[in-house]
Amino acid sequence: MSQIDSILGLPDLSIEQVKRSEHVEVWCRPKMRPACIYCEHHPVRIKSTHHRVLKHTRQGNQLMILHLALPKYHCPECNHYFRHPLRGIRPRLRATESYRLEVFEAHDGGVSQRKLTLTHNIGSATVERWYQHHIQRRVSELSGRDCPRILGIDEHFFSRKKGFATTFVDLKNHKVFDVVLGRSEASLRRYLSQLTGRDRVQFVVWISLKPIVRSSNSTFLKPRLLLTVFMSSDSSISISCKSGTNKTRLVEKIEGS
Ligand SMILES: [Zn+2]
Repeated sequence: MSQIDSILGLPDLSIEQVKRSEHVEVWCRPKMRPACIYCEHHPVRIKSTHHRVLKHTRQGNQLMILHLALPKYHCPECNHYFRHPLRGIRPRLRATESYRLEVFEAHDGGVSQRKLTLTHNIGSATVERWYQHHIQRRVSELSGRDCPRILGIDEHFFSRKKGFATTFVDLKNHKVFDVVLGRSEASLRRYLSQLTGRDRVQFVVWISLKPIVRSSNSTFLKPRLLLTVFMSSDSSISISCKSGTNKTRLVEKIEGS
């Protein structure tokens, strides 16, 4: 890959011509003719070529526009037709995936739709649609995750309006698993009851701001060990340990120094 091709960030394309005017306009075409996507026969013949124009990132304060010449192929072996498959460019869309991600990240970081219509040359409805698309994709990625085996639960103050939030942490891999508004068992009940893979949770460490002895039955989790740590304002720590198998409970208070 040449230096100018690597700047483009699309590994399947090679640059043929670049023109700088109001925008940076780049003409490119696929580097290689692929094997048939149906039967992997090679070579395939080019049946026709169609042109696509796509928005693709900003270079400095200039918008980069791609002019793509994309072949449509015919496989002589299985008689199928197919368009050239590309990574980072989806069919029929008028912007590359990296451009859509750039708009999403800018809007997510606080750049207004009005500002993005000026800098990225798109309508505010498009910004909203791309934002919603990425949010839905992230939610579906997160909802498929299994609950961690060693779960840390920590309550903390979120905002004056929304009150407290609860952070769920994967203690084995040292990663935040999720953050949910509310801290009482009643407010978390719906979230916990729908948690995928909650049966695999073996250990729970619940750091609480209230001196409550938690019951694993009421949290929909059935760990082998539930450890509740209450940190009081005078720096003393109360630890309540409940085993899910023999139902014994140990409460110990450690005075702060
Ligand atoms: Zn084929």
